[in-house]
Amino acid sequence: MKKEIMKKERTLEQKFQVNFQFKVLFTHNIFDVENTILQKLLSENALNKSKALVVVDSGVKQAHPTLFQAVQDYFKHYGKSIALQGEILEIPGGEVAKNDETLIKSILNKVNQFGIDRHSYVIAIGGGAVLDAVGFAAAIAHRGVRHIRIPTTVLSQNDSGIGVKNGINTYGKKNFTGCFASPYAVINDSTFLSTLDDRDWRAGIAEAIKVALIKDADFFEWIETMVDALANRDVEAMDELIYRCADLHMQHIRSSGDAFEQGSSRPLDFGHWAAHKLEQLSSFSLRHGEAVAIGIALDSTYSQLKGHLDQSSLSRIMSLMIKLGFDLYHPQLSEQVIQGLEEFREHLGGQLTIMLLDGIGHGFEVHEMDKEMVLEAMNYAKQYSAQKLEV
Ligand code: NAD
Repeated sequence: MKKEIMKKERTLEQKFQVNFQFKVLFTHNIFDVENTILQKLLSENALNKSKALVVVDSGVKQAHPTLFQAVQDYFKHYGKSIALQGEILEIPGGEVAKNDETLIKSILNKVNQFGIDRHSYVIAIGGGAVLDAVGFAAAIAHRGVRHIRIPTTVLSQNDSGIGVKNGINTYGKKNFTGCFASPYAVINDSTFLSTLDDRDWRAGIAEAIKVALIKDADFFEWIETMVDALANRDVEAMDELIYRCADLHMQHIRSSGDAFEQGSSRPLDFGHWAAHKLEQLSSFSLRHGEAVAIGIALDSTYSQLKGHLDQSSLSRIMSLMIKLGFDLYHPQLSEQVIQGLEEFREHLGGQLTIMLLDGIGHGFEVHEMDKEMVLEAMNYAKQYSAQKLEV
């Protein structure tokens, strides 16, 4: 009898869904005590006082010297309902935050020290790199504590901070160690943007151009009409760009059917295969958005050389990015970047899938890239950049 039971092949099937939902709130002066957004968010699901650990990007602290005091005063003012746990933790801003694994441990140490549980909060204030790293630490502490992102760059407000991906760079590869985890909420405070240097102001616009090119021709046209305002740091124009770009990214995540990227396709990563490799080859001296602009120029040119995109559309794309001040070429844009194709494939698994353009506002996917033509596209970007820079 015992033998017969062991012989049988049996299967149990498991299938369930988990719903994720979060809000992206747009505001100004988040730590002004008159602004109740954060206090309400922290106390909305609380039986007792809500505990929060706050982690801040060092670049933000430097640019906003009164921020720490303002955060402390805010928590003190609403002390009946919310409690700041310990000192505010400052971590280095920029890619350093993702290249140093020990920072994850330092955040976990604070979660442990202050008893941050799944009903408490880890709040990250900073650029995309700091948010990626803190989001990862929050996701693995107790298998996930509530995480509120307060993005402080254009790119993190319109793209990286409003998505579901967290991670750090390991083995010399971008985002090798990470996870998919939804934030509890995101608060975009445009007051932070005024202190960005010109490179970071501009870099985030690349992600808006990217999403416009693959999904929304009207948005691309709008960016064209607003190019001078955006180049001259008009805050209202930037607020609108961020709102529309964030909306398109969020629509994609909720309706693509693959929010956690289990397939081989990553449509929002138009221009990113070369960008990720370039960031690495430039030892991260290129900002992510700057590398994306070069990647967009490369894949748009490749689309044109392959006969999918007409010349006038390519000229519009290149000229928009030049007017905004992007370089469309970098000395590291060479044969070595082509290795990025395999690394891009490996990161997702399965078949290589690259987004190209067959019109402004419309992307489509291919599964192989002609390496000679990629080199030709690189050469075109080099010549185009040189001509424009001379003008
Ligand atoms: P960043 O985080 O590298 O920040 C750039 C610099 O700006 C840093 O020195 C930082 O200290 C400083 N800074 C931040 N806010 C500031 C402010 N308000 N005033 C003055 N200085 C400020 O740059 P980023 O473009 O925000 O983020 C890039 C990162 O985002 C990359 O690591 C990229 O891989 C990641 N990313 C993640 C996703 C995702 O889905 N998770 C998507 C796109 C990009």
